[in-house]
Amino acid sequence: QTRTGLALRIENVTRRFGGVTALKDVRVNVPPGARHAVIGPNGAGKSTLFRVVSGEYAPSEGTVSLDGRTVSGLSPDRVAALGVARSFQTSSLFIQDTVRENVMLAVMAHTPARRDLWRPLAAHREAARRADAALERMGLLVQADLPAAALSHGEKRQLELAMVLAQEPRLLLLDEPLAGLSAHERERVMNLILDLPRDLTTVLIEHDLAFCLEFADQVTVLSNGELLATGTPGEIRANEAVQSVYVGS
Ligand code: ADP
Ligand code: MG
Repeated sequence: QTRTGLALRIENVTRRFGGVTALKDVRVNVPPGARHAVIGPNGAGKSTLFRVVSGEYAPSEGTVSLDGRTVSGLSPDRVAALGVARSFQTSSLFIQDTVRENVMLAVMAHTPARRDLWRPLAAHREAARRADAALERMGLLVQADLPAAALSHGEKRQLELAMVLAQEPRLLLLDEPLAGLSAHERERVMNLILDLPRDLTTVLIEHDLAFCLEFADQVTVLSNGELLATGTPGEIRANEAVQSVYVGS
C-alpha cells in the first residue's frame, strides 16, 4: 500500500442508511500531529463520519486509511488496536469503581494482548502509570482513589478524556466533549482540550464554532452530509457559505 504521509485519510466516503444519505463524497486529510475540527449543524453527518473511521459503520463508497493503510472494512476492535481512540457522547464509566480503576480498565481493554500477559504485575503497573499520567493531565489525580460516582458531571467528562488519553492513541477522536456541560465546566474542559499533547493527532467534533476555530489547524464543515468547506480557521471564518449555515444556530 502506498504511504500518503497522512495520519488519517477519508477519501470520497459516502454512507447511506436505506434512503438516507448521511455522508456524500466526503474527503478529509489529517497529517500526523495535526488538530482537525469537524463542525456542522445537527444531522450533518459528523458522528457518522467518526463511526466510519472507527469501523462501526462500513462506508457505502470510498475508503478510510490510517498512515497509508486502508482500514475501511475492518472491525472496530481491529481499528482500535491500530491506535484509534474515540470518546463517546454517552457515559461508559464503571461508577462504583475508583477513578483510577476506570482509567486502568480502559487501558487494559484497549491494549492488544501482549507477550507480557504472563507478567500480569508488570502489565498492571504499566496501566497504573499511564492512568496516573492521564489523570494528572486532566486535573483528576487528587480524586484518583474516589469512586467515579463521587465526581461532578464535568469531572466525569474529564475522566472520560483521561480514559481515551491513557490508551496513548495514534489518533484521538472527540465527539462533542462539551455537550451538556455548564458554562463553568465548559471553560475547564475547553482548556484541558487546548492543552492536549500538541503532537497527538486529534479530530474534534464540536458545535461551538469559536472553540473549533481556536483549537484546530484545519476545519471541515459538513452540512446535510456534504462537505461545505474545508480550510484554516481564518479561511473558515471568512467563508460566506459557513456563515449562512451558522446564522441562527
Ligand atoms: P451529527 O452527528 O452531525 O448530528 P449524525 O451523523 O448523527 O449527525 O446523523 C446524520 C444523519 O444520518 C441523520 O439524518 C441521522 O438520522 C442519520 N443516521 C445516522 N446513523 C444512522 C443509523 N444507524 N440508521 C439510520 N440513520 C442514521
Ligand atoms: Mg453527532
